Formats: sequence, C-alpha cells, structure tokens
Amino acid sequence: MMITFNQVSKRYPGGYEALGQIDFSLQKGEMAFLTGHSGAGKSTLLRLIAMLESPSTGQIVVNGQRLDQLKPRDIARYRSTLGITFQSPYLLNDRTVFDNVALPLHVQGIPPKTIQKRVHAALDMVGLLKKEKMLPPHMSGGEQQRVGIARAIVHKPAIVLADEPTGNLDPALALDVMSLFEQLNQVGVGVLVATHDLALIAGMKHRIIRLKGGRVC
Ligand code: ADP
Repeated sequence: MMITFNQVSKRYPGGYEALGQIDFSLQKGEMAFLTGHSGAGKSTLLRLIAMLESPSTGQIVVNGQRLDQLKPRDIARYRSTLGITFQSPYLLNDRTVFDNVALPLHVQGIPPKTIQKRVHAALDMVGLLKKEKMLPPHMSGGEQQRVGIARAIVHKPAIVLADEPTGNLDPALALDVMSLFEQLNQVGVGVLVATHDLALIAGMKHRIIRLKGGRVC
C-alpha cells in the first residue's frame, strides 16, 4: 500500500473534530480524488499525510512507514518523497520561473547541472519550457498554477498531493491541469487530488474518496 489511514481522527485545538475515524488505503501508484464540500476535511487529510499536522488518534502509514514513528531527523527526507501543490501556488514574484521551480532542489543541495536538467524536465512537462525566464506576475493564473506544479514535481516525488489545484482556473484550464496529474500518474507517481469540483472529475476514471463533515461516506 502507498497510503493507509487506520481509524484516523484530527481534533484541532479548541476541540473541533475536523476528521473522524478515517479508514482508507491507496495502492502504490494509484491516482484518486478526495471530494467534499468546503470544510469537509480535505485539506486536513492532505496536511496529515504531509506531516504538517499530526492526527489526534489513529495511524497513518505511507510506503510501509508509520508516520508517528518517524524520527525528527527522518521527517525532511520523508517530505522529500512528496510533492505538494496548493490552490494558490505561492510563487516568489521577484524570481524567475526557473528559480521558483529550482528552489526545492537548492534546498536539497543538488549540483547546478543536475538542477538545470531537472527544472527543464519539469517545465517541459507543464508546457512552460519557453517561459523559464519570466517573472510570475507577468503570467496568467493558469500558467502560475503550472509553475507551482512544476515546483512540486521537480524533485521526482513518489506521491503528489494536490489541494484544490484547479480552484482558481476556468474549466478548460482546469481540465489541462487534471490531465497533467494523469500524465504524472501514468509514469508511476501516486496522486491524491482534493477538489470540490465534481463536474470536472465526473468523466475521469479514478477512485473517489468522499468526505462529509470529516467522515468518509
Ligand atoms: P476542506 O479542505 O474540505 O475545506 P479543511 O480540512 O480545511 O476542509 O477543514 C475542516 C474543518 O477543520 C473546518 O471546519 C475548518 O474550519 C477546521 N479547521 C481547519 N484548519 C483548522 C485549524 N488550523 N484550526 C482549527 N480548525 C481548523
């Protein structure tokens, strides 16, 4: 299994239960959607996988590793197996597209030649190879979103977690972005996409995990 949740619940400080008794598994290399209304717990579930939050009860196992048993020094390495995209891509506006995408590789101390190769491969994948020298504020919303996706995949993560990646996009661009995730999945990357856009995913043949009020339904 790639991801397993065993009876996971998450109660935020203040007592609000954002997730309760969550049980599900994703197979290695699977692509799945996480759906539900705003407030259903989609972001919380992704944040638990990314270890940006920890569960109140239950266990999460990712690629055979129980997250609650990871040692502090192993957490950065674990996170480097993930690629995460957000609804807003949080780009650095005074850095070029190339520099934005290269950022996670610099953090890992990878040599410049390799960085260049990887950044170009990621930009090629999202169709922005020709725009590597541009600054994000000069690009459209859809292009900025794709820069965010390139940054999320540039270090070749085993699993991509995408939180409402099409939230700010018109339907045609949203389809483009979803097909990008499908392409990634076709080369073996596990993908979990949180979205409230049921119309968009209706025609796609991937499993749907439905959340309602913090429960799988
Ligand atoms: P979704 O992504 O489906 O919109 P979220 O996971 O963001 O849902 O939120 C689930 C519930 O948890 C919501 O009621 C939200 O208000 C609450 N919540 C999310 N983050 C926090 C937080 N940091 N502190 C307290 N409550 C939170």
